[in-house]
Amino acid sequence: MSDSTDLAGQTRSRAPARVNIIGEHTDYNDGLVLPTTTALYTTVVAAPRSDRTIHANSRNVQDTQCFALDNIVPARNPDWIDYVKGVAAELQAAGIELHGANLEISSDIPLGGGLSSSASLELAIATALLSLNSATLPDTEVAKLCRRAENRYAGVNCGIMDQYVIACCDSNMAMLLDCRDLAVDQVAIPDSVRLLITDSGVKHRLADSGYNTRSDECAQAVKLLAENDPQIAALRDLNMETLEAQKEQLGDLLFRRCRHVVTENQRVRDAVASMQSADIGNLGKLISASHASLRDDFEVSCDEVDQLVTIADASTGVLGSRMVGAGFGGCVLSLVESDKIDQAAQQIRQRYKDVCSSEPWTHIVMPADPAGPYD
Ligand code: ADP
Ligand code: MG
Repeated sequence: MSDSTDLAGQTRSRAPARVNIIGEHTDYNDGLVLPTTTALYTTVVAAPRSDRTIHANSRNVQDTQCFALDNIVPARNPDWIDYVKGVAAELQAAGIELHGANLEISSDIPLGGGLSSSASLELAIATALLSLNSATLPDTEVAKLCRRAENRYAGVNCGIMDQYVIACCDSNMAMLLDCRDLAVDQVAIPDSVRLLITDSGVKHRLADSGYNTRSDECAQAVKLLAENDPQIAALRDLNMETLEAQKEQLGDLLFRRCRHVVTENQRVRDAVASMQSADIGNLGKLISASHASLRDDFEVSCDEVDQLVTIADASTGVLGSRMVGAGFGGCVLSLVESDKIDQAAQQIRQRYKDVCSSEPWTHIVMPADPAGPYD
């Protein structure tokens, strides 16, 4: 990541939002994901300070907080500033020498909406601090340290997907990422479809919600499965046959959690094939099947989101819809025929308003730059 400093010593950095086309709750199971980015950005204007403190102001949460760069420790009840602290701590742990800074943060990504405002914030802060301190690190290393920041300092057991795609995605491409070995394949999104985001308006807070419970359940399943087969190091290592054979041992709940991960990994593979052959009808079906699995097997949806998915699927040109992100609220992604995108967005806004009284925010996914400095 390069440097961009103006005459007053200020730097400007930004990082896009993440839109996961398919492969939900698979990243922390060493599985497959197929995300892209969109031109909604978290922006950080950074200015140097002569002391060793960070003063951060977020326009989104209308709060200013400061902390010393020395002895940053994880908080008992993490708050938004802990994402910033975590990134500063992990940069220093990676050997980057940081000086004090004033950070002005603003974001056009809905916070807690499933578009990864959290990883976008982490990458925008990391890029800003690197730039301000005239330091560089490979993008993939920045992604990894931002994930550690979220795990250790924000208390969320997330996988690597969000940070990786925000740091490294090619504009207008989907990224097939193998979360075990971090192998990447860029996949073109067919011109005949566009991606539409609609916010249900229901807010989640990951650390408070079932996200960590789900990652604990997956770890518990791996532990049980490994008793019979030590080759199983993550749910990634299961297939439907091995899973069916262990049904009794797992019990109904863990069996369904595992089934989501196994079938979702296969849906990612199938989605890539559908994109490559421009079979948009099948891609839509896979997205709908992903939602059903997240709702029924992984149980991370909610009534409002299910209702929004039903409304979206009944709108003109929509080929399939699903919840995106951690779940328990947030946004819905719809795959829409390109020439019907405006009509679909308008219908979804109107029909969801009839049910929920206020018109939802919609966004048509646009090509974005990866995290970095900008003028
Ligand atoms: P998502 O990543 O899907 O938006 P998360 O719950 O993972 O949802 O992250 C949302 C949290 O990230 C917010 O509650 C807040 O703590 C932090 N955050 C993200 N963007 C900002 C921002 N611009 N200003 C302050 N905090 C932010
Ligand atoms: Mg997040």
